[in-house]
Amino acid sequence: MDNQGVLAVISGFSGAGKGTLMRALLERYDNYALSISATTRAPREGEVDGREYFFKTREEFEQMIEHDELVEYAQYVGNYYGTPKEYVFSNLKAGKDVLLEIEIQGALKIKKKFPEAVLIFVTPPSAGELRNRLAGRGTETPEKIAARLSRAAEESKQMDDYDFILVNDEVDRCVEEMHALIQAMHARTENHKTLIEKIKEEMKQF
Ligand code: 5GP
Repeated sequence: MDNQGVLAVISGFSGAGKGTLMRALLERYDNYALSISATTRAPREGEVDGREYFFKTREEFEQMIEHDELVEYAQYVGNYYGTPKEYVFSNLKAGKDVLLEIEIQGALKIKKKFPEAVLIFVTPPSAGELRNRLAGRGTETPEKIAARLSRAAEESKQMDDYDFILVNDEVDRCVEEMHALIQAMHARTENHKTLIEKIKEEMKQF
């Protein structure tokens, strides 16, 4: 549809620096709307309900599934994560570029439902770098880190299913690349159907 925002799905291994990238993108440009997911995971220190996530009990989350309130949802290391519908659709309609920072199963569900969505995968330059970043964050127990690394190993098998890969070795450059990529999506033919028809019609006079 013309003038509709771009639906951009950003995935990457836990610890790839997606959070920092998203914050920088939102600070620099005002055309983005970052969807806030619902999750059954417990809040980390400093996380606020309604800011990082909508924190839900399993019962509440399963109610949301039943009432068809989610665009997609998935399980990740023992917890549910899902994208509430209303925010995504109202912002796309208003012409905002909507960012979904979600894991791989959810991303592939989105691509199936909305083929026009752009799927971007963020990775550190190497696996060793990922381990160092996760350990350095200090927010997770060694068991949780191990679970996240093992999940990352699984996820790496599906990197090929994404439209674009961004190497996050330098935040500033990575943010600009992500912005350029998403903005380029506005030029796609399917976003200009009305304009194309109008020009075709006007051309008939020649
Ligand atoms: P974390 O616990 O580190 O905040 O998130 C764990 C994983 O869940 C991350 O890969 C994150 O991108 C993903 N995630 C966050 N929200 C959603 C969501 O709404 N749907 C899906 N499928 N994954 C999500």
